[in-house]
Amino acid sequence: MLKKHSNLAFFIPHLGCPYKCVFCDQVNIYGERRYPSIETVRQTCEEYLPEKSDTTEIAFFGGSFTAIPRNMMIGYLQTAFPFVQEGRANGIRISTRPDYIDRDILSILKKYGVTSIELGAQSMDDKVLELNGRGHSSQQVKDASRLITECGFSLGLQMMLGLYGVEDPFEDSMKTADAFISLHPDTVRIYPTLVVDNTELARLWEKGDYVPLDLDSAVMISAKLMRRFRENKIKVIRVGLHSEMSLQQQTLAGPFHPAFGELCESLLCRNQIEEALDGVKEATVYCSPRLLSKVKGQKKSNLEYFNQKGITLQVIPSDEVNSLTVVHP
Ligand code: SF4
Repeated sequence: MLKKHSNLAFFIPHLGCPYKCVFCDQVNIYGERRYPSIETVRQTCEEYLPEKSDTTEIAFFGGSFTAIPRNMMIGYLQTAFPFVQEGRANGIRISTRPDYIDRDILSILKKYGVTSIELGAQSMDDKVLELNGRGHSSQQVKDASRLITECGFSLGLQMMLGLYGVEDPFEDSMKTADAFISLHPDTVRIYPTLVVDNTELARLWEKGDYVPLDLDSAVMISAKLMRRFRENKIKVIRVGLHSEMSLQQQTLAGPFHPAFGELCESLLCRNQIEEALDGVKEATVYCSPRLLSKVKGQKKSNLEYFNQKGITLQVIPSDEVNSLTVVHP
């Protein structure tokens, strides 16, 4: 049986960030958060980590961990590392910018038990990166990724779809996915671009210079990306932003849905069934119980979809099936 991975996560905002990504307002996205104190990190680890765990990581998220003041970064790591040494967590995960990775930084991270590094790459098109004010190039993503892998860390890459300045969201996403695949990440995260209040993107949207993806297109592209990554044995660990209340309140436009990942998984199931049907009008779908709601779709939308096409499906959950299998009569 697979053991479920979990993160004990701390959000480290980059309050003094010198960059100006058009889509970003970290305070709005994550609420009025401040840096957690070292003592808060220690107490939280003490309280929430189990006695022993080989499936829990201590995570420092926020996207710029190696760009915050160095003494602060080391302070967090020095606090978290003893819990890894005691076996209460099996490693430390961080997320950061590709231009804040070099051999010196990696040797510090290694010394304090960091095992996984996620890079906010967002796109592998330099023009798109520039238009979105990212302040790094696709070459820096490639260089940082190779260094991370070479130094023995697990590599994660994060991408966004529907960014400002993208001419063809589908093509841009697939190109970014292919560039990611060539870098052999262990994990990816996929985020649709949202228009958050008080950002440059909000101003562009108000002027009519930016049109966000609609929900159906974002789900369709994300599902294709998930499939491509999975075919290349890359784990998709997140699709869509967390449905935090502050994010919902601050989102002015864009393909936000509280169960975005579930919608994508449902579409993947629908596509898989449709391909297996191969024109047949009646079939039985056996699926793992964990996939049942996705096979049926949100509010049974997949069953409705096939029904409207005159296709009769019987869906049966089965412990014998790992994913889903379609049997024709
Ligand atoms: S997303 Fe961009 S602007 Fe926001 S914290 Fe990260 S680097 Fe800075």
